[in-house]
Amino acid sequence: MTPPRNDALNRVVEHLERATRVVALTGAGVSTEAGIPDFRSSEGGLWNDLHLMVSLSSWGFRLAPGRFYASILRLLPPLLTAQPTRTHYLLAEFERRGKLTAVITQNIDGLHQRAGSRNVIELHGTYRRAHCVDCQHAYTFEEVQNKIQRQELPPRCHRCRGLIKPDVVLFGDLLPSEALARATEAVQQCDLLLILGSSLVVYPAADLPRQAREAGARLIIVNLEPTPYDHRAEIVIHAPLGEFSQFVGDRMGMNLQPLGVPPQ
Ligand code: NAD
Ligand code: ZN
Repeated sequence: MTPPRNDALNRVVEHLERATRVVALTGAGVSTEAGIPDFRSSEGGLWNDLHLMVSLSSWGFRLAPGRFYASILRLLPPLLTAQPTRTHYLLAEFERRGKLTAVITQNIDGLHQRAGSRNVIELHGTYRRAHCVDCQHAYTFEEVQNKIQRQELPPRCHRCRGLIKPDVVLFGDLLPSEALARATEAVQQCDLLLILGSSLVVYPAADLPRQAREAGARLIIVNLEPTPYDHRAEIVIHAPLGEFSQFVGDRMGMNLQPLGVPPQ
């Protein structure tokens, strides 16, 4: 990395060494290096495909569930093959060392848990579970996948024939209130909020940095592109997260698993 960026990275390490209650806030950018595209990157971001985004909204689900599931099927392959990245392992290791208290994520891919993180607050739910919108019966991802494989599209509840909806927050849905309350509590108690791979434009998640600042925490932002909070952060690094995590992991004596290797 270039010397100015190295200076910033060294300062990040100093902050991390001093901090005692770090919270990470992660967005789709922590998983692009695992092969899962994000929504808002100017290149490759799914947001560029408006039809896809409309069919994935809560209105799209209600009005055209068949199209909704056709879009899901397009997005599923990278979710199924992705492995945690160095960044996921870095955060898991911080928690193991007692430095990090929570990972708040906008991601639905479950990669933080697979890397070993325990206290993960999923603001937008998870693709691993689903439920019937009528009787609320819960379904595992595998049960829904079996229905899809039998060409049951859209998949319906075996009890009441209601539509099955993945437990993910769609555009137009409300955020799960319990997750939001836990996230608010976590940022209000942290001394350092480490914001990784989020464009910080999706509310209410994007309000969490403001709440952390008001409670006295410092902000560090690592993202390829600028965010609306860059001017309020202690340190901003516009670099790929893989490089960031490698540098920090090396400096803090961590043996992070290389990309693509699943945890034992
Ligand atoms: P976003 O798509 O709005 O922003 C991602 C940000 O990450 C971008 O600003 C981009 O510049 C940055 N980025 C991409 N690759 C990076 C890299 N290698 N290193 C550093 N930065 C990188 O994502 P968001 O803010 O998380 O919010 C959008 C919504 O997308 C969320 O609701 C989330 O639920 C959903 N989403 C989730 C996944 C997932 O689970 N992996 C994937 C796509 C979208
Ligand atoms: Zn039902």
